[in-house]
Amino acid sequence: MDSDGMLHISLMGGQARAMLIEGTQMVDRARALHGLSRTATAALGRTLMATSMLGTMQKGALESVTVSIKGGGPIGTVLAVGKSDGSVKGYVENPDVELPRAGEKLPVGAAVGKGGKLTVIKDLGLREPYVGQVNLASGEIAEDFAMYFTASEQVPSLVALGVLVGEKVEAAGGLIVQLMPGAGESAIRSIEASAGMFMDISATMREYHLTGAVWQLLGHLEPEVLKEIRPAYRCDCSRERVERALISLGREELGDMISEQHGAEVDCHFCDRRYRFTEEELSALLEYALNRRSE
Ligand SMILES: [Zn+2]
Repeated sequence: MDSDGMLHISLMGGQARAMLIEGTQMVDRARALHGLSRTATAALGRTLMATSMLGTMQKGALESVTVSIKGGGPIGTVLAVGKSDGSVKGYVENPDVELPRAGEKLPVGAAVGKGGKLTVIKDLGLREPYVGQVNLASGEIAEDFAMYFTASEQVPSLVALGVLVGEKVEAAGGLIVQLMPGAGESAIRSIEASAGMFMDISATMREYHLTGAVWQLLGHLEPEVLKEIRPAYRCDCSRERVERALISLGREELGDMISEQHGAEVDCHFCDRRYRFTEEELSALLEYALNRRSE
């Protein structure tokens, strides 16, 4: 299988730009890790690819970008965290929700719901993170991201996201096309006229893969590849991080874990890794917390 990839592309001499991602392995990894239903695979997969692209779009340093989608549907919250190197992780609240198909497409909108919001939190390493929020357009994810870029970041954008799921993920792809300030009328019309070609992006990705898809989807818009990125599903949790989180709970909660539960199990939401702590290990953390307090 070809590996995942992402391209940043300039269009029509800089009047527009595109991010194109092939995320088949990334999405399949999320499916396998979380035991996702087909519909949940499509919902989380679309969100992971968009968040991965969003993470690589920042000009300056970016600690992380967190996207949460709460639509009020049976799947619950969909959450993804991306970084500037294209790595991404995420989960859905109810991974086994499955709904009857409406035609060809998986019923992502019905599973996510559209009675809520898409929220983007960019941690730029400053004291206050940037927060943008829009009402969901359809819960189909691509339209919701398009709404976010257009309304919250005020950059007119087309977004296409698609995941083909069989027993495993057969193909996953995504595209964001954005008009740059000062784009001419004919450039705007060319992009608007192309929207229909972007709709079946997962099938395009299955057939042509990333480099072929550039020409298939954007060949008529004078594409110039500016940058190549290797996106991946990656969780950066560690025992040290979990220890720090336990210490930050404070001595009362740590004390309860020791005296009542005689240990602790902490599961990472992003990779389902389980961290176990014995009574003795918790006592050592408690001692550390107490010493730190008295300093
Ligand atoms: Zn993890």
